[in-house]
Amino acid sequence: MSFVVGLTGGIGSGKSVVARLFAERGVPVIDTDVTAHALTAPGGAATSAIRAEFGDGMLDAEGALDRVAMRRLVFAEPSARKRLEAILHPMIRSESDRQLAANSAARYVILVVPLLIESGDYRKRVDRVAVVDCAVATQIARVMARNKLARDEVERILAVQAARSERLAAADDVIDNDGELAGLPPQIECLHRQYLALRSHVG
Ligand code: ADP
Repeated sequence: MSFVVGLTGGIGSGKSVVARLFAERGVPVIDTDVTAHALTAPGGAATSAIRAEFGDGMLDAEGALDRVAMRRLVFAEPSARKRLEAILHPMIRSESDRQLAANSAARYVILVVPLLIESGDYRKRVDRVAVVDCAVATQIARVMARNKLARDEVERILAVQAARSERLAAADDVIDNDGELAGLPPQIECLHRQYLALRSHVG
């Protein structure tokens, strides 16, 4: 089994940008967010279970999960999040396991898990935790711009995520992404060299 580096960070911290830099160095990247999107895209494996659980109102005209409607439901009715997670999490987990097995020859793999800190389960499944970090104000500005959301909508998403301090406390490695994008490659290059030199304690 490869050494597994769990890559996490709050929404908008820059996980996707960082994951791409590892991928450019030939590192297999397994992204649970990408898997979640595929499962909930038109014809995705989770869509029929979502329809059965929540009704047609949670799917859009193409048959994909309607994220805006789901976000509203979850904020109005927190138990809906648990019902959605009960459908998605086992599917994401088995797909991650499949991809980990398919990449078992790699020296190490990056497993992107947005809510790694929040999930005791995933922390047990990674050998090391790398956190992409930036100021909360930076996160808010990026997500408002990327997702076309109002400030209070972003703040509500942040409220259900771990605090910056909790993530930093759990980090083995911290990637500082508060500045220019050009600040990232040297940090990723340095971590890449370290990770190549590490060995899995489970393999
Ligand atoms: P995450 O995957 O953690 O939600 P992304 O990697 O998608 O975050 O980054 C969030 C947004 O901010 C994207 O639109 C991305 O292009 C932008 N971004 C990320 N890092 C920087 C940076 N250092 N400077 C400027 N924009 C950035």
